[in-house]
Amino acid sequence: MTSKTPYYGQCLCGDIQYKVDKIEPQMAHCHCIACQKFHGAAFSTFGEAKKENFHWIKGENQLKSFTAENGAVRQFCQNCGSSMTFAASKKVTDIIEFSLGTLDSPIDLQPDIHVYTHYKANWSIICDGLPQYKKGR
Ligand SMILES: [Zn+2]
Ligand SMILES: [Zn+2]
Repeated sequence: MTSKTPYYGQCLCGDIQYKVDKIEPQMAHCHCIACQKFHGAAFSTFGEAKKENFHWIKGENQLKSFTAENGAVRQFCQNCGSSMTFAASKKVTDIIEFSLGTLDSPIDLQPDIHVYTHYKANWSIICDGLPQYKKGR
């Protein structure tokens, strides 16, 4: 597997493109209800990068934001609907979480856990052997 930096990603329509110089090692599959809805899928997988290592190449102005009742902000492409980023409300952080499914480049990292499996869709079967947490990490 050849993975070389920077890593590149884009939304479905390609209006929004980004690059990541370095991806942080922690990477979880999240089964919470909001992630299911946001992705229209059984679960989400977000990669994490320090903000200084994450760069929008184009289309940042095409991002729309949805703020949940708990203050978490999710960004998506207003043209094609691709889920792009997640930011928890509580803490000020220098980390940006981005939807791993929008990445085009191969990476060396693998998700290491499942979180919020208490909310898992009952039609979704986890069979990868990774640790499962009913709530967060
Ligand atoms: Zn798009
Ligand atoms: Zn989630």
